[in-house]
Amino acid sequence: MTPLDVAVIGCGTAGAAAALFLARAGHRVTVFEAVEDPGPVGAGIMVQPTGMRVLARLGLLEPILARASRVERLHCVNAAGRTVIDLRYGDLHPRAFGVGLHRGVLFAELFGTVRREPGIDLRCGHPIEDLRADGARRWVVEKDGDEHGPFDLVVVADGARSQLRDDAPLTHREARYPWGALWFIGDDPDQDFDKVLYQVVRSTTEMLGLLPSGLGPTGDTPKVSMFWSLPVEGVDAWRKKGLGPWKDHLRALEPRSAPVLDQIDSIDEVLFATYWDIVLHPWNTDAVVFLGDAAHATSPQLGQGANLALVDAMYLARALASDAPSVSEALVAYSRSREAHLGYYQWATRFLTPFFQSDRGALAIPRDLFMGTVCKLPYVRTRMIRTMCGLERGVVLPDPLPLPDLFTGAADEGPALGVYRTGS
Ligand SMILES: Cc1cc2nc3c(=O)[nH]c(=O)nc-3n(C[C@H](O)[C@H](O)[C@H](O)COP(=O)(O)OP(=O)(O)OC[C@H]3O[C@@H](n4cnc5c(N)ncnc54)[C@H](O)[C@@H]3O)c2cc1C
Repeated sequence: MTPLDVAVIGCGTAGAAAALFLARAGHRVTVFEAVEDPGPVGAGIMVQPTGMRVLARLGLLEPILARASRVERLHCVNAAGRTVIDLRYGDLHPRAFGVGLHRGVLFAELFGTVRREPGIDLRCGHPIEDLRADGARRWVVEKDGDEHGPFDLVVVADGARSQLRDDAPLTHREARYPWGALWFIGDDPDQDFDKVLYQVVRSTTEMLGLLPSGLGPTGDTPKVSMFWSLPVEGVDAWRKKGLGPWKDHLRALEPRSAPVLDQIDSIDEVLFATYWDIVLHPWNTDAVVFLGDAAHATSPQLGQGANLALVDAMYLARALASDAPSVSEALVAYSRSREAHLGYYQWATRFLTPFFQSDRGALAIPRDLFMGTVCKLPYVRTRMIRTMCGLERGVVLPDPLPLPDLFTGAADEGPALGVYRTGS
């Protein structure tokens, strides 16, 4: 395809990765980011083998791994200490692992690289609110009415609360989850939470998570992220009660949380994140494509949102690099190529979330009685680990992505925008 004029809306995970892939493929890329001076904010995040594969393709994996914690196991217990989930990456392949990191590390690498990339015109402080058709091309329209363009392709990556979905009749669901999460990032100088994403659940209404989160964007003290499940409508009551009763409750549920809780002095240091359930299909029109949370936000129960956003970006670049005769046909091919993967993770997240975050307490009974045992059945175990790695692509008929060569030790990673060498 000849070089295109591409607008990317949003410079988060999906937008930054897409901009880098497309600029490196020779397209003229302009990125519009709403925030004037974006900075590293946010909770800990897990990057899975699928996401790491994409970061490696962008040449960003090494600096990110240097500030991340290796995670080898997901271990979830109930309040009585009974194992609910116990999954080890090493059971899929001895070299497989995930990483926990401060979101700012991922942001700083992606954003810093976009800023330095020769083929990208990065414009911060430009909130885009509308698109205007001009034949097959599109103008992007700012909040204050300023227009930019025309562009051959608009990549919408402005997150779960996208302003632009109403410009395309693709949205099937747009709902806020009734539950969210409080989070805090503390120091973990002795690395008490090393190598394990550890969770404690009681009924379906209480869930504490502790994720080793690397070194953060600056400094050299290991970090741990703490998550606590809370209904959206319970946040005000939680604030009114103050920190004391909450800390006592968490210490009683999991004494190992005490050193993290001791670092919280003010309720304002604990932030609350909400999640959205967004379903679009397909993810494109003739000249517009939706990536990342703008296209398929879910609850972070499976920790896949950023990984899916990264994979979206790589597949979009691949579709545009194919021999499709037009932008619109390349976008149709893109949507098709993402169907199985995105469909599986949206289904699995929607299926599993009520077992861990909901008012349906009865679901905790089969969860606590059977899930730990089911995890041990070899077939189910393999599928659950593949799900954790971001590789699954089918509910009934599994058609997983292979574990990236990066982990299996194969020497040749293939050309910069190539497909997985052993799959798809
Ligand atoms: C508590 C929590 C924990 C999570 N944990 C994980 C995890 O462990 N692993 C994982 O993979 N995922 C996790 N996620 C999900 C992950 O954070 C998201 O899926 C991912 O950040 C989506 O990236 P994105 O680029 O699509 O959107 P965003 O990161 O939201 O980026 C959107 C960008 O668009 C910009 N923007 C917004 N509106 C406009 C506009 N009108 N014009 C221009 N720019 C605009 C924003 O400023 C932002 O820079 C978690 C989410 C939450 C809430």
